[in-house]
Amino acid sequence: MKRKYGFLCGMLLGILFVSAGLTAWYVSRTDGGGNEQELTVVTSFYPMYIAAMNVIGDTEGVRLSNLSEPQTGCLHDFQLTPEDMKLLSGADIFIINGGGLESFMEDIAADYPKLSVIEAGKDLAILPGEGGENAHVWMSVSAYRKQVAAIAEMLSELDPAHEAQYARNADNYQKKLAALEKRQEALAKQIKGTPVVLLHDAFVYLADDYGLAVSAEMNLDEERQISAGEAAEMLAQIRADGVQQVLAEESYGKDLGEMLETEAGVQVLYLDVLNRGVYDADSYLDGMQRNITLLEEAFGEKQGE
Ligand SMILES: [Zn+2]
Repeated sequence: MKRKYGFLCGMLLGILFVSAGLTAWYVSRTDGGGNEQELTVVTSFYPMYIAAMNVIGDTEGVRLSNLSEPQTGCLHDFQLTPEDMKLLSGADIFIINGGGLESFMEDIAADYPKLSVIEAGKDLAILPGEGGENAHVWMSVSAYRKQVAAIAEMLSELDPAHEAQYARNADNYQKKLAALEKRQEALAKQIKGTPVVLLHDAFVYLADDYGLAVSAEMNLDEERQISAGEAAEMLAQIRADGVQQVLAEESYGKDLGEMLETEAGVQVLYLDVLNRGVYDADSYLDGMQRNITLLEEAFGEKQGE
């Protein structure tokens, strides 16, 4: 009997020592004397994720997640799922676009009082749009650059230990965006003042960057019925202003786009509104470059160069 208890005691002590040792090892690894504790940053949707991805880069100890799926698109009627809530409850920083796009923000402030919120579009001029505000600011390259700068600045304030890295990453990204803006400005010189019809609110910001004259606009950001009256009005406007190009988004603008092509002989350009896509740091740059190429081809100014 005695020997059996002795053996058990020894075994328990052994387990105790091993687990204490493991705990000490684990604590020292995760706390590292307080220098490398993980910071969890969550973005609300795709364009903010891409912007944050560029600012954070490979900064050690910072984990970046996106609230919505990369294919969710805009968050106009978005409801938080239980997974989203779980993600937010473990987050330190939440990066949002603002301009009313994240309609669930009131609940966030109440439910996650400790969460720091970075509103990337806070200091930007938000244009009026359907149902209030037109939140698609990222579609203007200059506005998107301000969002990137705001994210880098506020992230550095909240996480000063990585300030230099955020600044360096943001600077690299800004250089690429500046080159994009330059290409856009060159095209703007050729096409500004051209009348266009827009089939998505997002293109209001794009048209603004190019100085295009918006003849008519309809926000096809989701599945919706277009009345015969609306279509007739748009056709009349196209004829009155001599519109030759229509900017549309493929998933919701195709039906009306095809009708306008047939009825008015306009050319419909299906551009990327960059609210969904692959998680790649360069995807905003790539998408915008494709948009510029389509515009250059459509406005027929490339040949003379
Ligand atoms: Zn939208």
